[in-house]
Amino acid sequence: METFLSQNGLSLVENENKFRSIITNKKIDIGKTIIISHPLISFPILTYNKIRCDQCLKKKENNLQTCSKCQRVYYCDRSCQKSSWISHHKLLCPLYKKSKNNMDEEMLKRVTILIEKFFNNNNNNENYLFETFLKLMTHRTEQSINNLKSFEKISNNTYENLNFNKISKDDLINYLCVFYCNNFNLHDNQLFVYGEGTFPIGSLFNHSCRPNAIVMYDGAVQIIKCIEVINVGEEINISYIDVALDRVTRKKMLQEKYFFECQCSRCSVQERCSGIFSKIDQLIEEKDQEITKKDFNTSLENWVSSESKLEQNESKFSKVTKLILSNLLSHIKNNTTDNDYINSLSEIISILFQNYSKTNLFYISSFSFTTKLFYDKIDLQQWYQSTILGNYILSIYLIIYPRYHPMIGLHLFTLGKCYWNDITNGLESVKESINILECAQKVLNITHNEGAENVDIINQVNDLLNTARKDLSCV
Ligand SMILES: [Zn+2]
Ligand SMILES: [Zn+2]
Ligand SMILES: [Zn+2]
Repeated sequence: METFLSQNGLSLVENENKFRSIITNKKIDIGKTIIISHPLISFPILTYNKIRCDQCLKKKENNLQTCSKCQRVYYCDRSCQKSSWISHHKLLCPLYKKSKNNMDEEMLKRVTILIEKFFNNNNNNENYLFETFLKLMTHRTEQSINNLKSFEKISNNTYENLNFNKISKDDLINYLCVFYCNNFNLHDNQLFVYGEGTFPIGSLFNHSCRPNAIVMYDGAVQIIKCIEVINVGEEINISYIDVALDRVTRKKMLQEKYFFECQCSRCSVQERCSGIFSKIDQLIEEKDQEITKKDFNTSLENWVSSESKLEQNESKFSKVTKLILSNLLSHIKNNTTDNDYINSLSEIISILFQNYSKTNLFYISSFSFTTKLFYDKIDLQQWYQSTILGNYILSIYLIIYPRYHPMIGLHLFTLGKCYWNDITNGLESVKESINILECAQKVLNITHNEGAENVDIINQVNDLLNTARKDLSCV
């Protein structure tokens, strides 16, 4: 494992507080791929198992071939079917007739078959994956009683159905504990989850609520990408949860699922006193007690549907949106340094505190409503309204997420399409769609530039941008 990491310019170091962390031995620039690694096992979730190959997880809308014996798994071609058969399916195929597996049981059976082969020196050349997996923490004593009960049931089932020589029933429970706090959801270029996987190398990276790296996928392959300059000796962090969540929810999730108290730059006590990242949490958390979620949603809805543009521009939502976007979007477009960006972000957050501290601007528990409203406007082809709401959402994203985050890139693309469709402002809308799409291009070239399905999004943005530019030059 150390060799594999050092081939990628990384080291695993131990420190006092954390079990271990991954640091870089060389400076990593924004947009660079940090490491690409394979899973021990990964497979598509049920809703995707007929459009994604069970072995390589690549998408193929039709013509997937099913295993003629069990008719439970689908492959893109003979070679994937053969690999799967040799790896684990030969043993699992006859069992599918007996029972239905849940995800955990399916994962356990497949992984354990491979580990047994590893113990018998009878597997492929990726031994470091097994060595790494077997060293991952189980947190078994911290697991809930309900979890342990269900783990025991699953391991009993597995143990009865498969014959292991080198692995005990107790080992199986440990593996399930490791899955619980280490497994990854594989997501597509739009961040929709299509599979689950055990990625021992990815599991070595620690969490931060303000991460400097992101996790992307290409079929069954995991790609970790740099979104902020990382200097020699600095730790690389990914995020285990959605960083748009408020502090209380993040804390709860990290404690219950990953068994640690987050001490990242956004959560640590020291940071909470002065730093800008903890102020972000105050902005999205501290609520005026009199405002309820319903009131907030109503005022937001009224704002977006107000008859006159003048009225819209006077709204606090409009003012805040303008303030944030006019300051931060140019940083994305011009690829300014991380320091310059953080300074601008700091300034804006101070202004927000001075001027709006008593009003709710980012009511994060209303965020699903806001997003739904945005997509409703798109469905209704109310393009002007969709751009108003889209800008507001973008301004929240720029406060909460790191600027080169896939959520921001994808949202910019959608917003660019809204401007492109909006004809109420004539040429101005085309100009703005070009501006927004250029920003989308910048972000997606950093987040989506590895893996065929991801690159596909970049191509779509390029195509729309070319069309918009052509339209502008025709006038
Ligand atoms: Zn395949
Ligand atoms: Zn089969
Ligand atoms: Zn944190």
